[in-house]
Amino acid sequence: PAPQDSDRTLEIRMVPYGNDQQLLLARDVSQVHRLETMRRDFVGNISHELRTPLTVLRGMSEQMAEMALPEADALERPLGLMEQQIERMSRLVDDLLMLSRLETEAPEAEHMALDMSDLLSGVADEARTLSDGRHAITLTVDEALTIRGDRDELRSAFSNLLTNAIKYTEPGGRIDVRWFEAAGVACLAIADTGRGIAPQHLPRLTERFYRVDSGRSTRDGGTGLGLAIVKHVLSRHNARLEVNSEPGVGSTFSCIFPDPVREAQPASRADDR
Ligand code: ADP
Repeated sequence: PAPQDSDRTLEIRMVPYGNDQQLLLARDVSQVHRLETMRRDFVGNISHELRTPLTVLRGMSEQMAEMALPEADALERPLGLMEQQIERMSRLVDDLLMLSRLETEAPEAEHMALDMSDLLSGVADEARTLSDGRHAITLTVDEALTIRGDRDELRSAFSNLLTNAIKYTEPGGRIDVRWFEAAGVACLAIADTGRGIAPQHLPRLTERFYRVDSGRSTRDGGTGLGLAIVKHVLSRHNARLEVNSEPGVGSTFSCIFPDPVREAQPASRADDR
């Protein structure tokens, strides 16, 4: 059905036309917009609806694991697998909900300047717990450098990047996290000595469910949504993601914030543990 005039969306472009003339092109994208809104609502609703049955399933499987059943030994493996799959599905649902919130809710109009060294120490500590001593993780922070932003959203984006660095780096590898200013922009660089990514995959990495090696990534507990979340969070902060990677050598994921805030007393801190 044709949309009402009041909810028409036009995409307008200027293109060069002949000698020093411009042509104004207007395309009616109302239908595309409506379908996109329906898709977002559908994904948001379905993820929300899946939460309750998942909670029930988790409760039941925990109860069964605690029961003194005569077949306890035979049940151990299937129950363990059930729990793993419930966990995996919960992660998927949480990530889908987060993505749908990022796509539908407008970002806060006025953001606070963040305590980046506190935020990043928290994320690095979490990563050290996850790595459990298998990687050398360092954090270097320019303490006078900060940005305005949503603490929870950024925390989840940074934590996704660090979790990936751990997942895709063999034990014994290094992960270096640096918060610094260069050429007027603030940058969070997360460099690993992991398996790296072949150049043909780089342009598609932030697509939902895109994985370089899907069998492997699923076993590693990934949902394929992490980098899509990172991309959305960054774009809500007027920031962008840059990826440099060499297969077999490692990857650097850089979050680039064009509007840094510099606080009065510059100081640098290297916190190597
Ligand atoms: P996943 O949940 O599969 O990790 P992501 O969206 O976070 O999904 O990442 C998409 C894909 O990008 C991953 O499946 C992996 O193939 C690749 N990738 C992401 N981070 C790294 C990294 N640090 N080193 C190597 N490959 C990576």
